[in-house]
Amino acid sequence: MEIDHTPRILVVDDEARIREACKMVLQECGYEVSLASDGFQALGHIPAEHFDIILLDLMMPGMSGFDALAKIKALDPDTVVIVITGYATLEHSVDAMKKGAFDFIPKPFTPDHLRVTVAKAIEYTRALWDIADTRSRLRTMVNHIADGVLCTNQQNKVALANPAFLRMIGCPVESMIGRDIDEFVALPPLREMIARAQGLPESEFSELTEEICLAGPDRPEGLTLGVRCAPFRDRNGRNLGVITVVHDITALKQMDRLKSQFVSTVSHEIQSPMNSVQMQLQVILDGLAGEVTEKQRAILLRASEKIGNLSRLAAELLDLARIESRLITLEREPLDLAAVIRDQVVFHQPRAEAQAVRLEHDLPEGLPPLLANRQNLEEVLSNLITNAIKYSPEGGRVTVSAFAQDDYLCIRVVDTGLGIPAEELNAIFQQFYRVKDEKTRYIQGTGLGLAIVKSIVESHQGRIMVESQPGKGSTFTVFLPRLQA
Ligand code: ADP
Repeated sequence: MEIDHTPRILVVDDEARIREACKMVLQECGYEVSLASDGFQALGHIPAEHFDIILLDLMMPGMSGFDALAKIKALDPDTVVIVITGYATLEHSVDAMKKGAFDFIPKPFTPDHLRVTVAKAIEYTRALWDIADTRSRLRTMVNHIADGVLCTNQQNKVALANPAFLRMIGCPVESMIGRDIDEFVALPPLREMIARAQGLPESEFSELTEEICLAGPDRPEGLTLGVRCAPFRDRNGRNLGVITVVHDITALKQMDRLKSQFVSTVSHEIQSPMNSVQMQLQVILDGLAGEVTEKQRAILLRASEKIGNLSRLAAELLDLARIESRLITLEREPLDLAAVIRDQVVFHQPRAEAQAVRLEHDLPEGLPPLLANRQNLEEVLSNLITNAIKYSPEGGRVTVSAFAQDDYLCIRVVDTGLGIPAEELNAIFQQFYRVKDEKTRYIQGTGLGLAIVKSIVESHQGRIMVESQPGKGSTFTVFLPRLQA
């Protein structure tokens, strides 16, 4: 709840002159003002009415201001009370603050003094409501998401464990707050991960990801959990504790196993007959089944090339299935991006030369390390560089560069090749999508390379962008989150 209404103020003073003066000044500021001449009258309004601020005279006949203050706070703790006192002694003020007053105004006071004190109290109230709002929003969110969330402090005590987390680890739902995780998380690998996350260097943005399998008499079918642990820090970067997010990937794993089985069965079924067709074609081409005319040879060579393409497709399908199953959780390490790029450029040089394309890199000194999976990063670079060469005519140029930008490390592959029509730019990342025009139709490919690149980049919480001009060239830029200093 925020103060989105006109702030409501109650002025409690036995002196009519002061009451009226306050009312005039505060109404001029746009507040809604009510008046009471003593403590009894004031309490008569509460709690039926809520006042954002009560200005309370301490010296009143009948009920003393101090008594009124205690009763107001008991009836409506959210009200901010400012005491008005003729005895602005330290002792009185401290007493009033102890009983819950927010501030005090000594008599006599000027209209300005009143305005400033009330404005400060309203600002404070707004900040309090904002904090309460944010807390309640966060609590609702955390309690209702399907992923398990656990927050532990430096002493391994639980600060928060949402219902999904307790359900996943098979813990009875009761309050875990303040308890040691060792008491109720009977999962050594999880406890060990939390301890490792707690020990991660303070200057680094890092997280640990692992898969943990749970089996037990009450769970014969077993559970596979994807677990991420990341330390959270104070403003000075000191570790305060660990946030653990647990995602139930049992169904995903099962589906993945089925898919992989299916894909490998199908590709195997396709590959063996294709290999035997290929071999038989070769036997004919080698002249072992009789003489072959030039025309027959040309036809057989084309057939053999098509069979070769089909074999590559089956191999890439196997690749994709393999990569997607591994992407669920990955081991990441800090990598020297510039070194990985240099190696890839050297590796692809022969192919570039064969196509008379100039392949080079442009790397700045002192790039910070990149937290990524090495094999995946190589796969991303390899696919982008291969494409850049493949879709460049002779005499083209391909440049691979890297740079840091905000929280990201970026990899850029620029070519001076065929380019991609604007309306196809989004589609090229889909599986099997290939741009089909006069120039690309003779270039071999499966349409899977960029789909592989995209899934790898996204599994590293990154993104990929492409800019291109047909006939001029394309630029692919990959953004990957960097280790934070
Ligand atoms: P493949 O290259 O095997 O066809 P990809 O998924 O790697 O599959 O690429 C999809 C399509 O995007 C390609 O068929 C091609 O039309 C287009 N493409 C990718 N990279 C480039 C590039 N550097 N220049 C021009 N076109 C490209």
